[in-house]
Amino acid sequence: GSVLTLRGRIEMDAAIMSGRNLSCGAVGAVSNVRNPILLARRVLEETDHSLVVGSMAERLAEKFGLAGTVLPSNKRRENWKQMRKNPAKYLKKNMAYASDTVGAVAIDAKGNIASGVSTGGLWLKLDGRVGDSALVGAGFYAENEVGGVAATGIGEAIMNVLLAKIVHGYMAVGKSVMDACKFGIENITAKKGPNTAGLVAIDSQGNFGYSLNTKMMIVASMSEGMDRPTAKILTDRSLA
Ligand code: ASP
Repeated sequence: GSVLTLRGRIEMDAAIMSGRNLSCGAVGAVSNVRNPILLARRVLEETDHSLVVGSMAERLAEKFGLAGTVLPSNKRRENWKQMRKNPAKYLKKNMAYASDTVGAVAIDAKGNIASGVSTGGLWLKLDGRVGDSALVGAGFYAENEVGGVAATGIGEAIMNVLLAKIVHGYMAVGKSVMDACKFGIENITAKKGPNTAGLVAIDSQGNFGYSLNTKMMIVASMSEGMDRPTAKILTDRSLA
């Protein structure tokens, strides 16, 4: 489902963070990895590093048996051909087309919090561009005593304001998770404009929150005893 780069390639970013010891694993600009989040987890658990990018990350994927050809669907290829006719329209700052990030936050019975994100990034991004989903404090953050955050939107805007860390900061000083999300989005809207981000978060008690300044975001939640998640389509009108 990934979006395509200016040159028509799939390049993905992904990360996972453990709130128990603030350790994270991330990969940036990787191709030919079927589930980049699994590779991010290997970086977390089996290397001494927090972020590995490009061809060397793909070598790691081979070593861990996570490599595999990833080809765009015909629909994506068709979209790319149309957009490629007028790249300036899509690349304009803060008008970039984001659409495919999946983010998650979770807490277990022992209070361990994790956050994870995975994305193809922005349509027609420069090959080699790495977004917020690989950058701790920007697209994701987790700390057991406080909470976890996962973001989506225009990576450049998110990394400029360190959106996940802002939301974490609001929770750390006692704001409710829902208010922390709302303030985080107000902050990025003030600095970088509307239509830049959405986020989900969870606090140390398992309460969850979300907010967005984009046209739409789908959120779902699940807790013990439920056999399927409840999902909601949010639009900017639900920002109130
Ligand atoms: N945040 C992602 C990026 O800029 C895109 C998205 O959320 O869809 O790489």
